[in-house]
Amino acid sequence: MAKVESFTLDHTKVKAPYVRLITVETGKKGDKIANYDLRLVQPNENAIPTAGLHTIEHLLAGLLRDQLAGVIDCSPFGCRTGFHLITWSEYSTTEVAQALKVALTKIRDEIQWDDVQGTTIESCGNYRDHSLFSAKEWCKKILDEGISDQPFTRHTV
Ligand SMILES: [Zn+2]
Repeated sequence: MAKVESFTLDHTKVKAPYVRLITVETGKKGDKIANYDLRLVQPNENAIPTAGLHTIEHLLAGLLRDQLAGVIDCSPFGCRTGFHLITWSEYSTTEVAQALKVALTKIRDEIQWDDVQGTTIESCGNYRDHSLFSAKEWCKKILDEGISDQPFTRHTV
């Protein structure tokens, strides 16, 4: 089976919350896409409950696109400790961490339920499983700790 970089990362050595560049890949025509690890909570110590994580996912989909051109996707890890962000072209981890900080600050301070996109039976695959309250509480915790642009040392933006 193909070896996947993310599974070679020593998850006991990282210091969340952080942004890490996983890889930049070049397509046959020279286009580049970058894949980031947006680690919001410490692996094997915390995990964001699914309802809050689900609401954060729906909000990051819009809030990161507001700030970064070329966002392809931002999807949660199965371990519920963070998200993959995939973009056309490459941003520095500092730029991504700053955009993430702005997005989480908006979720904590400004977002109301009516702002959350895709919360109906037609627009979401599990529309009953959302919690803006949980999303806001986890964003508060993540922002209190600060988002680092490096995974192994704390260098907050
Ligand atoms: Zn959904």
